Amino acid sequence: MLIQLKLIKKHATISLMRLFTRQLCSVFCLLYATSSVAQEHDSAEQLRFVTTNSEFTLLHEMGHLLIHELQLPVLGREEDAADQLGFIGLFLIHERQQTPDFPMRLLDVADYWRLEWQSAKDSEEQIQAWDSHALDEQRFYNIACLAYGSDPKNLEWIIEMTGLPEERAFYCQDEYEQAKYAALWFREHFKRTSGEPVKHRIRVIYDTPPHHLDGGSELLEKVKASGELEAVAERASEFFVLPRDLTLRVASCGAPDSWYNTISGELTLCYERIAHFRKLARKLPRLNSKA
Ligand SMILES: [Zn+2]
Repeated sequence: MLIQLKLIKKHATISLMRLFTRQLCSVFCLLYATSSVAQEHDSAEQLRFVTTNSEFTLLHEMGHLLIHELQLPVLGREEDAADQLGFIGLFLIHERQQTPDFPMRLLDVADYWRLEWQSAKDSEEQIQAWDSHALDEQRFYNIACLAYGSDPKNLEWIIEMTGLPEERAFYCQDEYEQAKYAALWFREHFKRTSGEPVKHRIRVIYDTPPHHLDGGSELLEKVKASGELEAVAERASEFFVLPRDLTLRVASCGAPDSWYNTISGELTLCYERIAHFRKLARKLPRLNSKA
């Protein structure tokens, strides 16, 4: 969905520097794991689903932020570009499949879109064909294709798990390589040179968590104490030359959203979105098959 005459970009993501992204996992692991809502019955696989999709959300929104603030050239729809940047950002966060569960994380992101696609929605919540976002079904197949294409020799099982048709799968390695090339090109061409001063920064603001989020106050204090979101913002500020001061806000939004406001220069991550990921994780059979 778009708000304010397409000036706010929702459901996004990317980031492109490993130093900057390296921090994100621990942020969201902390954000979720310290919440009392995570202490009930969630499995390690469900936790992985929640943290990885939280990362992808932030990275997608960072994609919008960088596209607008650095005036990156974009061919095709910005929402698609943000998804691709976000996907490549996951590799930078996780240092290219070095962890054994990394392919499952990619599948977690694809399956999030499958769950959105297959969930019953009110008509006003349904993404329409005219929307600037791809349909949830398309985002599912796009992410599945990039996931398989990132390592076709070893990830053929993703074709089976996702039902990705062979007609699309045949080109997925090319799609992945194209997205990676673009992201790395952008990183190389827009990085701050060593002699350039840092004039503007991204500041981090935490709003009060919603009352319905169990343990919200404790969660907020722990995230603040970690200082990790601040570290992410600081590193992004130092890696690129930002044209103005920006804000990364963790907020209660009343809905499971995220967006980048190009007028105010504020990236918002909603507490509710993290809770939404948890709810969906419980609907995914492959995350709930173990006793
Ligand atoms: Zn977006």
